[in-house]
Amino acid sequence: MSRTLNADLHCHSVVSDGTLTPEALAARAAANGVELWALTDHDEVGGQQRAEAAARAHGMRYLTGCEISVTFAGKTVHIVGLGFDATAPSIREGLLATRGGRGERARDMAAQLAQVGIPGAYEGALRYAGNPELISRTHFARFLVETGVCRDTGEVFRRFLTDGKPGFVPHRWATLADAVHWITGAGGQAVVAHPARYGFTANEEFALFSEFKTHGGAAVEVVTGSHTAAEAAAYADTAREFGLAASRGSDFHSPDESHTDLGRLPALPADLQPVWELLEDRIR
Ligand code: AMP
Ligand code: MN
Ligand code: MN
Ligand code: MN
Repeated sequence: MSRTLNADLHCHSVVSDGTLTPEALAARAAANGVELWALTDHDEVGGQQRAEAAARAHGMRYLTGCEISVTFAGKTVHIVGLGFDATAPSIREGLLATRGGRGERARDMAAQLAQVGIPGAYEGALRYAGNPELISRTHFARFLVETGVCRDTGEVFRRFLTDGKPGFVPHRWATLADAVHWITGAGGQAVVAHPARYGFTANEEFALFSEFKTHGGAAVEVVTGSHTAAEAAAYADTAREFGLAASRGSDFHSPDESHTDLGRLPALPADLQPVWELLEDRIR
């Protein structure tokens, strides 16, 4: 496997909060020149077989994937798992438990929105959820745009659904240790997703990477659709400092919402070890 491969190891389908099917994503990734692909739906591996078959049909190499929601230092952190056995009972049960509670949380979010004069948000969001078990803030965002409350999803997350704003319901997700162990226990490698998004203090961030490494975490997403060039450079330094491999992924959700398309990303810094070098025997 070449170090400069066009790898896109982070994106979402209708199985979680993306708008395309696994097959449509595979076709789009292949058309954009992706050579190694992973579908990483939130807290769910239900799209993995379809994604792998579609990758094969388009001549792309494939790694199994998922993006696990974790609560760390009072905030939600995302851990991407790559190359694990998607049929392993431990990860399937872990993800099932992590998904549980989304329905109740969604009803609480809708109740808050109703209080600020936005009725019907639960039913509205549910219409966008390809998988009702995975009803997420993204689906509420689509409802708020569709009904004209906000112009785009960026405005939604500035005015609603985030800490201190209407529609925010704090939730306890998986622990960092559990998420990393589910992934590594099923033969995969764990990656800290889009670290610049969390707004941690320097101390909290040091704790995150130290504990991640202690639990057996292997890599950090350096090049992602969520990072500016300066943030990618900063987290390349984090990879060097903590001895972590590097990952690359667009975090593509939808042609209408995502500004970074599948596979259209800068290369990883040449001195960093790509995470796929740790997964040679897991690539399909
Ligand atoms: P949830 O898992 O229900 O908390 O929803 C989190 C999802 O909301 C993420 O996976 C993103 O797809 C989306 N999201 C969170 N923050 C933003 C943001 N600032 N702009 C756009 N999408 C966001
Ligand atoms: Mn998402
Ligand atoms: Mn994420
Ligand atoms: Mn994501």
